[in-house]
Amino acid sequence: MQTTRMHPSVAIVRCADYSPRRITAAIDELMDALGGIQSLVVSGASALIKPNLLTDALPDQAKTTHPEVVRAVIRALQKGGVKVSVGDSPASAAKLDRVWERSGYQAMCVAEDVAMCRFEQHATLPLPCGKSVLQVAEPVLTADFVVNIPKVKTHILTTFTGAVKNLYGVLPGYQKTLLHRAYPTPSEFGRLPAALYERIRPGLNIADAIVAMQGAGPSGGDPIQLGFLAASTDAVALDTALCTVLKIDVRRLPWCRYLPEQCADALNPAAINYPLLKPRDVQPARFSVPAPLWPRLIPGPLVRRLGRLAWIRPHFDSSCIRCGRCVKACCNDALRLTADDPRPVLIAGRCVACCCCHEVCPARAVTMRQSPLLHWARRGRLP
Ligand code: SF4
Ligand code: SF4
Repeated sequence: MQTTRMHPSVAIVRCADYSPRRITAAIDELMDALGGIQSLVVSGASALIKPNLLTDALPDQAKTTHPEVVRAVIRALQKGGVKVSVGDSPASAAKLDRVWERSGYQAMCVAEDVAMCRFEQHATLPLPCGKSVLQVAEPVLTADFVVNIPKVKTHILTTFTGAVKNLYGVLPGYQKTLLHRAYPTPSEFGRLPAALYERIRPGLNIADAIVAMQGAGPSGGDPIQLGFLAASTDAVALDTALCTVLKIDVRRLPWCRYLPEQCADALNPAAINYPLLKPRDVQPARFSVPAPLWPRLIPGPLVRRLGRLAWIRPHFDSSCIRCGRCVKACCNDALRLTADDPRPVLIAGRCVACCCCHEVCPARAVTMRQSPLLHWARRGRLP
């Protein structure tokens, strides 16, 4: 008997700004295009919403998923009789209270009467992944339904962060930083989001691309108005659609090579079904993507063996406000704040180029620089 293969669907709608009326209409249209909320999750079920709460940034800084998008999704789920909570574990070393408050989530969750689930305050369950055991926040694994709501952003280490990468936030607290030490290059790091995706498989994924981030994301880039929301039951297909919009080759994202064979259709832009707008309808005239830091022609172990010739290191400029977050976030104790120097001092031999200091800096004072050899390798050999 011949079986019909179902192509993954990604619904895309325009949404010009974060006004609640516009977002509610857009979310309703997306849900209708995917068959309605009732076809995805049954009344009475529990749903955990996982936004991107990277740091203690204001919503319009485009570092975090805008709370108005999450609010509209909460209301749509509640209308369907679903019990909702919102959970994440920020990457930043900022105080947790400040993250939830400044990002607008504290006020939004109180107003919508939903539980705020700070993953740091919950038990974890083990998930084996290669040489490591990941400790996943229990609420993510015990919820009946997971709704993944990433912010569309560039990422200096992985080029792009969308639906699959957003799952990294289910690892509470400092664990994320320590894993950067164990998996420092993009290709090594890619194992982690892939393993989390295999285990979690969110039932619904919605991308906040009304205002996205370009350039040196995920926190040091510039906001850019893209003006759309996109949704899919398939996180990989959603990322493929977003990469098509942004002209990024999805197969070069570091986790794609570790995804299971059955994701082949979701990784193929031509195999995706678009019931509403197509990627070309929302394509920006320009979008700036960070250059890859680790040339793929030089594998991670070889880069490490090249030692002094092949390095990537943070550089700290005069906008540093000496907040100390980079020092706290450094997975390898490679930074010091001293009385003699206005900026953090790097112990170069300890740096594993994980980019965590760049990611947490609130002052955009950190740029990642690469040695002339790596610079040459990228310019001379890579597209
Ligand atoms: S570089 Fe950034 S994170 Fe580090 S101390 Fe300066 S302002 Fe803070
Ligand atoms: S100095 Fe920055 S890039 Fe180097 S290991 Fe520490 S956090 Fe990572």
